[in-house]
Amino acid sequence: MNTNERCSCAKRPVSVPHDELIDIIVKSIHAVLSSEPDTKQPIEESGPHSQRIPLGISNRHIHLTSTTFQKLFGDRAEFESMRPLYQPGEFASKHTLTIVGPKLRSIPGVRILGPLRNYDQVEISLTDAVFLGIDPPVTNSGNLKNAAPLTLVGPNSSLYLEKCAIVANRHLHMPTSEAARLGVKEGDFCRVRIGGEKPTVFENVLVRTNDNWKLQIHLDTDDANAANVRDETFVEFLGKMGTGI
Ligand SMILES: [Zn+2]
Repeated sequence: MNTNERCSCAKRPVSVPHDELIDIIVKSIHAVLSSEPDTKQPIEESGPHSQRIPLGISNRHIHLTSTTFQKLFGDRAEFESMRPLYQPGEFASKHTLTIVGPKLRSIPGVRILGPLRNYDQVEISLTDAVFLGIDPPVTNSGNLKNAAPLTLVGPNSSLYLEKCAIVANRHLHMPTSEAARLGVKEGDFCRVRIGGEKPTVFENVLVRTNDNWKLQIHLDTDDANAANVRDETFVEFLGKMGTGI
C-alpha cells in the first residue's frame, strides 16, 4: 500500500496511517524479540554454576497455629487440604480468611497454607502492603520481630495480631546435596536471572536448605510481575553474592 497517497492531506511531508504505523511498530518489536539472543547483555556470572531452577510464585498467604485456626474457624473445625503444593508435605488448605489493615481496607480470600505452624504469619506483597496501609519488613519467613499488624477475619471470629505481616525474602528451597553442588549453603544470598520480554536479575535471593525439599525458587507476585513471568518457567542461577544483605 502506498502510504503517501493516503496521507496527502497531512501537513507533515510523509505520514503513515495509524493502523499501518502500529503494524510496523509491532513487526519491528517482534523482529527484535525473535532475533535477540540471551547474549545481548552477557551475564558474567553464568559460569560453572549455571543452572536452571523451577520458579514458584507465592501469592499472598497465611500460616497459622492450631490455636489461632480453632479460634477463627470454631472449635469443631478441621484443618483440611485442598491440594498439595510443589514442596513435599506442604499444601493449600480449603480455608481462607479476610485480612484487614488499620484503614479498614481489606483483602478477602487469603488462603491458609498447611501444615499448621507454631506461629501466625501473613505473607503479602509490597503492593498489598500499600493497599492495606501497613509497612511490613522484607524478611525471612518466621522472623516476626518487626512484623506489621493486621486483623484476621474468619467465619467464627476475628483476631487482631500486632506482629504478623511480612514481605517474604526472595528465596531458594533446596536439599543440602543441591546446595553443595551449586556451591552455596543455608543463609547465603544469591543472584538469579529471568529472561523473556522483561529480563531481570534478582539479587538477595536467600538460600534455605532442607533435605525434604525440591529445588525451587519462590518469588512473590510483585517480583514475578516485574519480570513478567508466570509459574511453570525457570530462572538461571548466577551464583552466590555473599552471606548477608
Ligand atoms: Zn518458599
